[in-house]
Amino acid sequence: MVFIIKPDVEEIEIQRFVSMFEDKGFSTIVSEGTEHTAVCLIGNTATIDMEHVVETSDIVEFGKRVTEQYKAAGRTVHPEDTIIEVGGTSIGAGTFTVMAGPCSVEGEEQITRIAGAVKSSGAKVLRGGAFKPRTSPYSFQGLGAEGLRFLLEAKRETGLPIVTEIMNQTQVPLFDEVDIVQIGARNMQNYDLLKEVGQMDKPVLLKRGLSSTIEELLMSAEYLMSSGNSRVILCERGIRTFETMTRNTLDLSAVVALKQRSHLPVIVDPSHAAGLRSFVAPLARAALAVGADGLLIEVHDNPQAALCDGAQSLDLQQFDELMGDLRKRVGFENREM
Ligand code: PEP
Ligand code: MN
Repeated sequence: MVFIIKPDVEEIEIQRFVSMFEDKGFSTIVSEGTEHTAVCLIGNTATIDMEHVVETSDIVEFGKRVTEQYKAAGRTVHPEDTIIEVGGTSIGAGTFTVMAGPCSVEGEEQITRIAGAVKSSGAKVLRGGAFKPRTSPYSFQGLGAEGLRFLLEAKRETGLPIVTEIMNQTQVPLFDEVDIVQIGARNMQNYDLLKEVGQMDKPVLLKRGLSSTIEELLMSAEYLMSSGNSRVILCERGIRTFETMTRNTLDLSAVVALKQRSHLPVIVDPSHAAGLRSFVAPLARAALAVGADGLLIEVHDNPQAALCDGAQSLDLQQFDELMGDLRKRVGFENREM
């Protein structure tokens, strides 16, 4: 149940209203928008006479029953788009943010070199995995803590904020200087990890699970948000289907569905979606056209020699050309890149 508060109501009065319900055992989400403040009650609201509350309260404009489970991530309680600030970049409506870098950090020189190149092509965030979730235990597992140090070195050299994947709760202390914490597709429903990362004071990039529905993705965002973290970026990265021509099937409808249902920024990862380099630019353009707020793209200076996901990585020149093309289209849409 959500109560929309009248304009110009004092903070203290809203707090009194909220406490009244919290004293009865309800949890609350108070969402301050530019137009109005909304108070959302979580718990068994069947026991509340909504009309009575609206009639007897001086500060409530109207009440609404919220049927969806994702109250913090959904638009009903929070109609305005959320824009997330990170390292001088805004992510969300009106912008188009490209995050780029190798699948995995392979060495200090490698990551610093690629960081400099993607920055000069216009990427605003550097990606690179230090802890890698690999299908085979015999594949390169990432450089771990050392990889994180190299990534931080590349951040210092270039000034680019970094996004990198966390695989379990014990890694939290290592992520102090990381700008955006990535939760990978394989961990989208690791609820203990979601609760822990929900308590971190930094933006989270939440990737859709390989076989997860859009609603399940939103519920995972809800785990992060109900644990205290409101800075969640959703990522569509392709899902499992019967198709074998591509690594996964990019679900562009998910971008539309997520933007309709949620106020959170939505980005697309065309690299993991397709698994093939030649698909990345067309799918990146499609993501922009369908309303995504940005992209996560794998870029390597020598894809043939990459330790992970070389076949889907753009080389530096291909990435630069794609960025030039995207810049024109983003301008045409009156968005900032
Ligand atoms: C990645 O982005 O490095 C990655 C492992 O992607 P996903 O979790 O989507 O498979
Ligand atoms: Mn990868």
